[in-house]
Amino acid sequence: MTVALPTMDVAARIPRLRTAFEAVGVDALLVTRLPNIQYLTGFTGSAGMLLVEPDAAILVTDGRYAQQSREQLGSHRLDARIEIAATAAEQREVLRTANAGRARLGLEAHGVTWAQQRSFAEWLPTLDLVPTESCVEALRAVKEPGEVARIRAACAIADDALGSVLPKLHDGPTEREFAGALEWAMRERGAVRPSFETIVAAGPNGAKPHARPSDRKIGPGELVVIDFGCVVDGYCSDMTRTVSVGDPGADARRVWDVVAASQRAGRDAVRAGVGCATVDRASRAVIEDAGWGDTFAHGTGHGVGLEIHEAPRVSATADATLETGHVVTVEPGVYLPGVGGVRIEDTVVVTPDGAEALTEFPKSLVI
Ligand code: ZN
Ligand code: ZN
Repeated sequence: MTVALPTMDVAARIPRLRTAFEAVGVDALLVTRLPNIQYLTGFTGSAGMLLVEPDAAILVTDGRYAQQSREQLGSHRLDARIEIAATAAEQREVLRTANAGRARLGLEAHGVTWAQQRSFAEWLPTLDLVPTESCVEALRAVKEPGEVARIRAACAIADDALGSVLPKLHDGPTEREFAGALEWAMRERGAVRPSFETIVAAGPNGAKPHARPSDRKIGPGELVVIDFGCVVDGYCSDMTRTVSVGDPGADARRVWDVVAASQRAGRDAVRAGVGCATVDRASRAVIEDAGWGDTFAHGTGHGVGLEIHEAPRVSATADATLETGHVVTVEPGVYLPGVGGVRIEDTVVVTPDGAEALTEFPKSLVI
């Protein structure tokens, strides 16, 4: 499945970030969270720092990424300087020189460890280091059309891969075998990798929301929770379906019906201008009314993009409001210890009057 992906205007993102500097009270921002560096520059290396100044930007990385950084920044015609600095001492010099005469430098509070903060304070003693929160993440939450296209492509691969491997459940594979087949099917269709460790949890294992696939064989009539996704050009997909080979019995059917209704209610509540907590409430109310509210012990959803979990969170305590272009999941679940679990999840893009599902695989319990 090769889908032509539209180009993205990556070079427009750093200028957008600069418009936030005044509000957060910084003269420049040192971006150290790698997904944020990827968003702002297209650079996908495993080490680097990006100094965003009012009128310049410097990517500091090491020799392993000399060629890759030139290629990736060049492909987006990014107006940024690349400094290759192998050692901490060299990096220190680059940052010290670039920040000479500056008063306030923002650091990413959610990306800087205590040890790093101490060393930055040592390296840059004359600077006021300002902790900032979610400067880049707030930009990332609202997806551009090119980003939605990539998430859509990842969702389409996941849909198609699930369709291709689902019949194998009739052969009674182990959870690990089935997870492996699903991941391989996504790679065959053009995925770079799974977007997280695939969850395949059958029977009692399904009662653990984040179970690891085991060597247990999947039997007929068992609820099987399959939560998985893949990455296309940096962007993630996320979907859960719960199925059974043959009839799982009336009790299991009832749980599945309630979760399916809860998921529909959550999806129906999604619209630009609606609070994330309102979506959570709509979804959760259905499960609470059925008497299983205490087993739904996680949020209803989360943003999806360069990271599998990103802003905005969709939970009871979330204070964010949905905006057009947010991409979020709706994934309620019921988990009954010793029995099993049901979770159903779609990734949707928020529109002015609702939600468009990007994961389209049919929802049906019995296969
Ligand atoms: Zn998921
Ligand atoms: Zn999810």
